[in-house]
Amino acid sequence: MLKIDNLRAEVDGKEILKGLSLDVNAGEVHAIMGPNGAGKSTLGYVLGGRPGYEPTGGSVTFAGEDLLEKSAHERAAAGLFLGFQYPVEIPGISNVQFLREALNAQRRGRGEGPLSGGEFLKLARAQADALGMDHEMLKRPVNVGFSGGEKKRNEMVQMGIIGPKLAILDETDSGLDIDALKAVGEGINRIMRAPDKAVLLITHYQRLLDYVQPDFVHVLAEGRIVRSGGPELAHELEREGYGAVAA
Ligand code: ADP
Ligand code: MG
Ligand code: MG
Repeated sequence: MLKIDNLRAEVDGKEILKGLSLDVNAGEVHAIMGPNGAGKSTLGYVLGGRPGYEPTGGSVTFAGEDLLEKSAHERAAAGLFLGFQYPVEIPGISNVQFLREALNAQRRGRGEGPLSGGEFLKLARAQADALGMDHEMLKRPVNVGFSGGEKKRNEMVQMGIIGPKLAILDETDSGLDIDALKAVGEGINRIMRAPDKAVLLITHYQRLLDYVQPDFVHVLAEGRIVRSGGPELAHELEREGYGAVAA
């Protein structure tokens, strides 16, 4: 599904990704762990096509097509979903408007027509229910005044509505209390654990991995994957720290 080969990328003229390679197959969950400043978020931004995060070498294919050639919008339409460490607030646009537009853009990408208002609302409410999010929050401006936990639940509602092929989730667990962590973990499993979907879970800590069991764990350090293993690698990291494991 996703093939990253010797990827190099710069931010502000500084090389951050230094030859990163990673293969993700359909049906797999990959956790990416690593110290602060390793380039984890940069990897997510480069894959998502964020301006300022410039690929300078290597290649990335997604579902057999050159991902880096595509605009951010085309990447989303192709089935890539990016969950941010700090979700943006959009004053003046309600969650419902935003989610409906996001979904309809996806559907256009697949050659499908838009959902009616009624059909969409039914879908949005079902996803909100699944995440334990109050329906009232669907009417509020996107993320404005939401707590950290509410933003992350909202992001899972968005992911559930859109139904991406590949989700890249950056520090989805940061700042969550136990209940929100559990809800978000269950959301990831429910929405993304399927033979035709895959997840790249970027996280500092092992705790989210108690809820979302990865098939593979990778250590990203200094712009490269320096070690890969199974779920046990996350426990080893938690016990021994990145320094010992990545050395
Ligand atoms: P991680 O997510 O692993 O903590 P990041 O990808 O956020 O790491 O950052 C990797 C490196 O890139 C850091 O040295 C960081 O300072 C630098 N960096 C990331 N984004 C920017 C930016 N917008 N401007 C300048 N430097 C950046
Ligand atoms: Mg960081
Ligand atoms: Mg980061």
